[in-house]
Amino acid sequence: VIEIGQPEHSVVTTCAYCGVGCSFKAEMRGEEVVRMVPWKDGKANRGHSCVKGRFAWGYATHKDRILNPMVREKITDPWREVTWDEAFAHVASEFRRIQYQYGRASIGGITSSRCTNEETYLVQKLIRQGFRNNNVDTCARVCHSPTGYGLGQTYGTSAGTQDFDSVEDCDVMMVIGANPSAAHPVFASRMKKRIRQGAKLIVLDPRETETVNSVHAKADYHLPLRPGTNVAVVTALAHVIVTEGLFDEAFIRERCDWSEFEDWAAFVAEPRNSPEEVEKVSGVPAETIRGAARLYATVGNGAIYYGLGVTEHSQGSTTVMAIANLAMATGNLGRRGVGVNPLRGQNNVQGACDMGSFPHELPGYRHISGEAVREVYESLWGVKLDNEPGLRIPNMLDAAVEGSFKGIYVQGEDILQSDPDTHHVAAGLAAMECVVVHDLFLNETANYAHVFLPGSTFLEKDGTFTNAERRINRVRKVMAPKNGLADWEVTQRLAQAMGLTWAYTHPSEIMAEIAQTTPSFASVSYELLEEKGSVQWPCNEKAPEGTPIMHVDGFVRGKGKFIRTEYVATDEKTGPRFPLLLTTGRILSQYNVGAQTRRTDNVVWHHEDRLEIHPHDAEQRGIRDGDWVRLASRAGETTLRALITDRVAPGVVYTTFHHPDTQANVITTDFSDWATNCPEYKVTAVQVAPSNGP
Ligand code: SF4
Repeated sequence: VIEIGQPEHSVVTTCAYCGVGCSFKAEMRGEEVVRMVPWKDGKANRGHSCVKGRFAWGYATHKDRILNPMVREKITDPWREVTWDEAFAHVASEFRRIQYQYGRASIGGITSSRCTNEETYLVQKLIRQGFRNNNVDTCARVCHSPTGYGLGQTYGTSAGTQDFDSVEDCDVMMVIGANPSAAHPVFASRMKKRIRQGAKLIVLDPRETETVNSVHAKADYHLPLRPGTNVAVVTALAHVIVTEGLFDEAFIRERCDWSEFEDWAAFVAEPRNSPEEVEKVSGVPAETIRGAARLYATVGNGAIYYGLGVTEHSQGSTTVMAIANLAMATGNLGRRGVGVNPLRGQNNVQGACDMGSFPHELPGYRHISGEAVREVYESLWGVKLDNEPGLRIPNMLDAAVEGSFKGIYVQGEDILQSDPDTHHVAAGLAAMECVVVHDLFLNETANYAHVFLPGSTFLEKDGTFTNAERRINRVRKVMAPKNGLADWEVTQRLAQAMGLTWAYTHPSEIMAEIAQTTPSFASVSYELLEEKGSVQWPCNEKAPEGTPIMHVDGFVRGKGKFIRTEYVATDEKTGPRFPLLLTTGRILSQYNVGAQTRRTDNVVWHHEDRLEIHPHDAEQRGIRDGDWVRLASRAGETTLRALITDRVAPGVVYTTFHHPDTQANVITTDFSDWATNCPEYKVTAVQVAPSNGP
């Protein structure tokens, strides 16, 4: 006799929230999930989990899910349910019409970092083989694209250097612009365990986060820098290391170009990069900068972990390169306990980038201009590939407003809510003739869609996710897709409707094609993943069981490259009208724009975003804790409740962005990283005033 709620069987799969990539046993009763149990053999989590992975899966059966395809002629028309065949035929016909009328480059697509590797691979393949252009981008554009650029320039590849286990040998960890306690909680608990064992902690963050100060671990140095001054502060750390002779000459001579180091060292040693000068722009006391630099350079194994507080700036790529310089200068690379580790936000943002979701790169980070690489795909796919980079997301929207970009396929992203300058995104979408949204819910972007293709959850499909340590984890189907088709099948059916002869019968066949064409995945197969549980790329002839630590004997690019990182103040300035700086972040129980977690019981822990404001700034404005306030920038305004706290410094305010009512991106500017267009979400000049509410 089976009691209600008692599981009948279980399936091991991977959490679909953050980049830690925890493994879970989905305990099932028929087609119903009874509970998610963290899997003790999961190499990323070793039996641990957080409140999101453990409890926030109820969105899979939420009443808001759309299960049938829908079409409408105009975005003001009501939706009309259609069959899958009708939906695919309609999209194919519209995309072909648009290309005939406006040219081959008039359509494009966006891959989802929440979908599997196989699914993102198929979307970029559809665009390159079917649309015959390179207009493909992914949400990494708005989060970790500077990581791709910065680590690519300095080390030769866009990926974290270490595995998570490496933290066990770390003596000092430096966390920059990240709050793993909230955003990567299972890995944060491993960091805290190591700190309790004696490792030191340095945190660079404008706010006193849970990572800076918790009951489990406290930072030895907190550098509460003014938002927008990362490059100045990291370069000042390098100044101390160079001028006090704390660099690792043997490592630099062996692994880097010594003359490039000398050039960089002369630059960082200039007086304008000294802690005393940098204190003036960053607000961080010079002695704190000196103490942190000495600690990082001298205590033993030093590891750097960073997040979106590094990348989402006009100098995001420069900061990534400054961090890479710091690790090279101190020899903190190529062994356990050290390294440069971008903490990827979404479950498969690493994988979406690996799979060629950028307009300039084919899978495996190979530039589209490389003839030999293109030939691999041209002979397999039977088409001539465009050798020019395509449009990035912001360029697609610009081109739409200008009238030359008319159609888009958006897989699992809510660009209206998550991308900067909401008004511009809306204008771009409104100017298009065929917007296809492929998602679980009618999200904000779907307000501008002509076709809605229902998506499937991670519980309803097979595939793989790649986590922040390059670990390829299996995603296993635990129930049939409620909409009838897994996401990879939707993209395949659309490709077939456009005349492509795809005939995959299972995602393992897509992975076989990825392995066949991508050297860093050459030995990856579902058989190997079953045998090993998971593997970290590169996984090929040289490393048949994967690569936990990169750059062990040499950098991917050969010699590590030191690059000058000149601090340039952002154009976003405070002034009499907008005297405060707004920065943003996440909390533990919610995930990104909340499309999934807000539709689960996790809302009991967090049901609204609040504006954190220092008591001094609140008093000056007559604001009491819990009052409604009007938050306005040069771009727009919104209303939310105040939370008075000295976790933020005077002059700085902070909010999360999990709830659509907050409309945080109505406030943010359109400034972006100089190299990658990653938006400058983390610095906005604002004014705050009492309000009567929305
Ligand atoms: Fe693990 Fe991240 Fe999922 Fe939490 S949200 S269970 S830390 S993968």
